[in-house]
Amino acid sequence: MGITPEKLLRAELANMQAYHVADSTGLIKLDAMENPYPFPAALKDQWLAELKQVELNRYPNPQASELKKTFQKAFSLSPKLELIFGNGSDELIQLLIMAVAKPNATILTVTPSFSMYKLIAEYVGVNVVEVPLQQDSFKLQMDLLVEQIAKYQPAVIFLACPNNPTGTLWPQDQVEEIIKQTTGLVVIDEAYAPFAVYSMMHLVERYPQAIMMRTVSKMGLAGLRLGWILGDVQWMAELDKMRLPYNINALTQASANFALQNISVFDEQAKLICQQREVLSNALQAMQNINVFPSQANFILFKVLKATANSIYESLLNNKIIIKNVSNDGLLENCLRVTVGTEEENQAFIRALDSSLS
Ligand SMILES: *Cc1c(COP(=O)(O)O)cnc(C)c1O
Repeated sequence: MGITPEKLLRAELANMQAYHVADSTGLIKLDAMENPYPFPAALKDQWLAELKQVELNRYPNPQASELKKTFQKAFSLSPKLELIFGNGSDELIQLLIMAVAKPNATILTVTPSFSMYKLIAEYVGVNVVEVPLQQDSFKLQMDLLVEQIAKYQPAVIFLACPNNPTGTLWPQDQVEEIIKQTTGLVVIDEAYAPFAVYSMMHLVERYPQAIMMRTVSKMGLAGLRLGWILGDVQWMAELDKMRLPYNINALTQASANFALQNISVFDEQAKLICQQREVLSNALQAMQNINVFPSQANFILFKVLKATANSIYESLLNNKIIIKNVSNDGLLENCLRVTVGTEEENQAFIRALDSSLS
């Protein structure tokens, strides 16, 4: 017998699955929190002119230094804080977990939340503690959290603010309390910042153990794969040592640099999405037999009461609409998550949902 994967590879791999993305060819795509509006046609020629100047035979700028300046300006970042870019925020989650991966290290997250925290911890071989949210309200269970933080002393706590897939935005005093309670880092993941009423950036400015995480994915540039973390200069200098060289490719650097110099375009799109979120939420609330959860993000979670989430999901697929079936994730029994699309897409979804419910 020759070498087999089972013999050679880490035993954990036998029980893992590759990250599955449903095929959405030809469907109305309301499953992945993408911004439905394309890059404005009026800007495309200028963007392509920037790309023309990229020297693909050369390695990209190793620190993405021009991009950094553009970000500092576009988001009015404090000059006292340092920025690290990642190939999507997923890469930065990996960087953070690798950096704390001492034997028996633990990270903590709430559940349900963004699945990559747990998955990446498993890839890296770090323990995960998941603290359930309150049933049905999806609020933080503060007493339990404080207890588990004391018990497990997590090296990193990941808090998605607003939370995916519930849409909940935690009260700022609760996040601050968590920062005060822990002896580790707290990552405030604001992937949905463009759609939320407040940001917790001020906590990052006040507490060196708090790290801001953002991405350009949900604001309209998911194809670029660009995320960033922001935090205390000393912490960032240490973390940067484990970043792979040239991790942000030249095309992404040039494209993001151009896009962020025109950030008002994306701010306008985010406003439209927030308006559509209210329209969609009102339409869902008007329907019988579903529960709609309030959302501070560009998606809405709802619970099917008289049918099964699986049957509704399939029926929407038959109508060429794909949303996300999250109904097998613990507290999310019979829940579905729909991304806010364009007005036309949302109306098509509402019509199809209405008919599948009746
Ligand atoms: C979508 C999402 C991200 C993903 O970010 P990428 O930059 O696309 O890797 C990170 N955090 C949360 C909470 C998300 O929902």
